[in-house]
Amino acid sequence: MRHDVKVRFAPSPTGRLHVGNARVAALNWLFARANKGTVLLRMDDTDRERSTQEFERAILEDLRWLGLDWDDFVRQSARQTRYDAAVERLKASGRLYPCFETPEELDLKRKIQLGRGRPPVYDRAALDLSADEQTALMAQGRTPHWRFKLNDAPIEWADLGRGQVRFEAGHLSDPVLIREDGRPLYTLSSVVDDGELFVSHVIRGEDHVANTAVQIELFEALGYDVPDFAHLPLMVGADGKQLSKRLGSLSLADLREKGVEPAALVAYLARLGTSTAPEGSDTLDSLTPGFDLRAFGRAAPRYDEGELMQLNAKVLHRAPFEAVAERLEAMGLDGADAAFWETVRENCERLWDAGWWWRVCFGEIEPQAAVEDADYLADAARLLPEEPWDDAVYDRWIEILKAETGRKGKALFLPLRLALTGKPKGPEIGRLLPLMGRERALRRLGG
Ligand code: GLU
Repeated sequence: MRHDVKVRFAPSPTGRLHVGNARVAALNWLFARANKGTVLLRMDDTDRERSTQEFERAILEDLRWLGLDWDDFVRQSARQTRYDAAVERLKASGRLYPCFETPEELDLKRKIQLGRGRPPVYDRAALDLSADEQTALMAQGRTPHWRFKLNDAPIEWADLGRGQVRFEAGHLSDPVLIREDGRPLYTLSSVVDDGELFVSHVIRGEDHVANTAVQIELFEALGYDVPDFAHLPLMVGADGKQLSKRLGSLSLADLREKGVEPAALVAYLARLGTSTAPEGSDTLDSLTPGFDLRAFGRAAPRYDEGELMQLNAKVLHRAPFEAVAERLEAMGLDGADAAFWETVRENCERLWDAGWWWRVCFGEIEPQAAVEDADYLADAARLLPEEPWDDAVYDRWIEILKAETGRKGKALFLPLRLALTGKPKGPEIGRLLPLMGRERALRRLGG
């Protein structure tokens, strides 16, 4: 029986979300919405030492910041009884067996196998223990960990990201599902949740491919529908090197602090690894209808912050006032209204660049005037039209200045721009002038 499309995003609240997680979250979300499905947000918080409520809160905040919502929410820590029940079923069917090796013993076995040029696969020595031997080990105070016995048959599936995937029997270790302290490991809890909560598609990074092989057998052993899987190549840095070690400094919190717009990040991540370039006009809603996992290539996509920042500027250049109003207010930019924003947005690469233009329009700046332009600026001040001003005031003023001073081109415009805005480039002066008003303009011209 095939259920409706349901995906899950399953972060562990043991740290902040980074760009890699955000990509997986965004692609899951887009896939679900494109297929009229639902999104489950699952907190993989079974690691009690490292999971914290603060990280969970931060993850929710980051997802909301990206604009990714969810339909259901569960915490693995609240589902222990479900995992216990699954464990009992596996024990009853003889698929779970106790093992007593210490980490050191296992390590030694692996080294010997590698030394002989063999894959470091668990040798199933524990299966040879008799009931008496098991009892004797327990009497010595040793508590077992439990492994899931894989079938001696290849595991194959049609991956939506990688095509046909096949694992030969004997190339995988029987996975440990229960630790010595009795806690279930992710391999088990993830399958129980995906199975019992009717997840139809598991979309995640290709670092999970081997997990998928054993998880497919686990789905079957527990009698759940096996979901479809899509594994995406992991992102690498712009230099082509693994990103994994640097992901810590690529948290969404860091990107936010660098001035990255959530809309830009989503648009960037949604196209990364496809042959379509992201557009500043892309939004979650506009990307949804045509979203197709098959558009993602097999090569590792390069995360390039320079490209992201270029997109960031494009997103801001067209951002409607409503999209930024609250944040402009939070920046303390009183009077920053739609007219102001529409005048300056094309000169903002990051939202906080608006702060400079706000000072130009409504505050004070240090005018830049070359000594040799002092007389010209004095003329400009003298000839500055009286208020009231509209958008045409600048053109009228320039005509008068041209006629009176004989200046043209750069010599005519640049000294005015430098004096009025403190910068050689920026929004049209004709639009800035009415915002700054005559008095402020006169002061900057030295009049
Ligand atoms: N909590 C797991 C992780 O963050 C989830 C992996 C999965 O998607 O199954 O790696």
